[in-house]
Amino acid sequence: MAGRKISIHDACRDIWDIVVIGAGVSGSIAAREAARLGSRVLLVDKAVFPRRKVCGCFLNANALATLAQLDLTHLLVAGDAPPVRGVFVSAGRRQAYLPLPTGAALSRHWLDVQLSDEAMAAGASLLLGTEVHLLDNDVERCRLRLICGDNDVEISTRIVVAADGLTGGIARETPGCTRVIQSHSRIGVSAATTFVPKGYKPGTIQMAIGRDGYVGSLQVEDGHIEIAASLDPAAIRRSGLGGTVQRILQQSALPRFEGVGELKWQGTPPLSCQTLPAAGHRIFFVGDAAGYIEPFTGEGMAWALASGASVAPIAHQAARNYSKDLPGRWIAERKRLLRGRMRLCRLVTRSLRNQRLTELNVTLLGHLPFLARPFILWLNRPHILTSVPR
Ligand SMILES: Cc1cc2nc3c(=O)[nH]c(=O)nc-3n(C[C@H](O)[C@H](O)[C@H](O)COP(=O)(O)OP(=O)(O)OC[C@H]3O[C@@H](n4cnc5c(N)ncnc54)[C@H](O)[C@@H]3O)c2cc1C
Repeated sequence: MAGRKISIHDACRDIWDIVVIGAGVSGSIAAREAARLGSRVLLVDKAVFPRRKVCGCFLNANALATLAQLDLTHLLVAGDAPPVRGVFVSAGRRQAYLPLPTGAALSRHWLDVQLSDEAMAAGASLLLGTEVHLLDNDVERCRLRLICGDNDVEISTRIVVAADGLTGGIARETPGCTRVIQSHSRIGVSAATTFVPKGYKPGTIQMAIGRDGYVGSLQVEDGHIEIAASLDPAAIRRSGLGGTVQRILQQSALPRFEGVGELKWQGTPPLSCQTLPAAGHRIFFVGDAAGYIEPFTGEGMAWALASGASVAPIAHQAARNYSKDLPGRWIAERKRLLRGRMRLCRLVTRSLRNQRLTELNVTLLGHLPFLARPFILWLNRPHILTSVPR
């Protein structure tokens, strides 16, 4: 039976099998897949949808393959998502064009509403505009606090899936778990603009790499351009968000945006962080809430989709018949899915901090773009979701 949007008072009438905290990419998929298995699922987000989210909005080929495995390709068609086939990289005045396996550009404003609707269609209940905190997790269940305006209530659930992203605090509230932030971690920022620079090529990511970070831009389905960046916190302190982005763009050979400094910039906490361990008693962390590294070309949503789908059967089993090995099973499954890919991205993003090396690499790739192909194909290879029930 299809689920529905519910109120905070409806939410406290029941003991839930699974409460998913955060209706971003990983949370909505986890809620959908767990509901399909038969769990009674509540999906909660503190935001009211539709909402903007700091993201470059590029779904890479791996993300598209996971959406296909989950029978969700129709979302790309319905959203009129433009195909994306390559990335222009510029470091200083050096440039390279690297073809990518076909991905798509879709705003989070649109995508996240559709994914939470899909979770409801599978039977999950949806509660928006409500912030969740973990009160405790005892032998039998977890107690959560829900806050929506003046309403402040407690609910119980057998299992929590924490999909609360980089900004969420559930990891810090979970006994035995810590959120580890890597030193020298950069900050994520993004803004939308309707200004399309002369010479801007739709269907490609434009990426400018500078000393203080890198800035990507991509035109999404409704024609606006999402500008997203990973920035050095010291540079932000000196020049502000817009000022830092503008300087990196100006130093590149890419088409110029007007009014970058005046756009409405949104930021994230430090990007490179990890929740250790990625599961606690009756609590499983997914997506960015489990761990993230700097974005590169579309890995974040691909990993969030795959881990959301993969946590669902484990959370479902835990709700039915909890056993102490299940947190360990999730940690092992997440490692199998992501560890190698995260290592490669960490290496790439670290090497981008050396401007001279980056300029050399971009010069080389400008002449011999095929050298990047093995890495690009390896990162974009589809996840094998052993546990997706169909
Ligand atoms: C600058 C930048 C650019 C990026 N560009 C790309 C890109 O082009 N392609 C790509 O694939 N990835 C990109 N990413 C990464 C991508 O955005 C994330 O990896 C992805 O959104 C992770 O999804 P998630 O579901 O784990 O978390 P999120 O999408 O962040 O969702 C978390 C949700 O939890 C909610 N929440 C938080 N706390 C609470 C609470 N206490 N109670 C209730 N709700 C709560 C939030 O409101 C939010 O809706 C980028 C990231 C950054 C920072």
